[in-house]
Amino acid sequence: MFTSDREKNCIFCKLIAAGDSEFLYEDNEYVAMRDINPQAPVHLLVMPKKHISGLNDAVGAVTGPAMDLIRQLAVDMGISESGYRVIVNCNEDGGQTVGHLHFHLLGGRRMKWPPG
Ligand code: AMP
Ligand code: ZN
Repeated sequence: MFTSDREKNCIFCKLIAAGDSEFLYEDNEYVAMRDINPQAPVHLLVMPKKHISGLNDAVGAVTGPAMDLIRQLAVDMGISESGYRVIVNCNEDGGQTVGHLHFHLLGGRRMKWPPG
């Protein structure tokens, strides 16, 4: 199932492959799960199942449908009208800690600007 050591050591690939996580959403291409360390009342992680290291390696064919899914999840979570924030941390200065492309969907509270 795994095709590289990078994927073998990837925590998100492991969760996806194990298939026993409580995903809020799953299809052939994407999963959405609750962040283990939520920073807002709603804090989901939306990601492609395929291992892509980060935004630098992502093409529009991956990010476009992810955004469509995020908009729908915002509706499902009841934060579409109150508002929400979508974040992709990229590499070290961007604060990325897990090297598998993921979008943070945060909502349910008033966000501050600028982020730290
Ligand atoms: P980032 O810092 O942008 O790479 O985000 C990684 C996120 O993954 C953090 O918000 C972590 O809290 C979250 N995280 C790490 N391990 C898990 C896990 N096993 N299940 C759910 N979320 C996780
Ligand atoms: Zn991965």
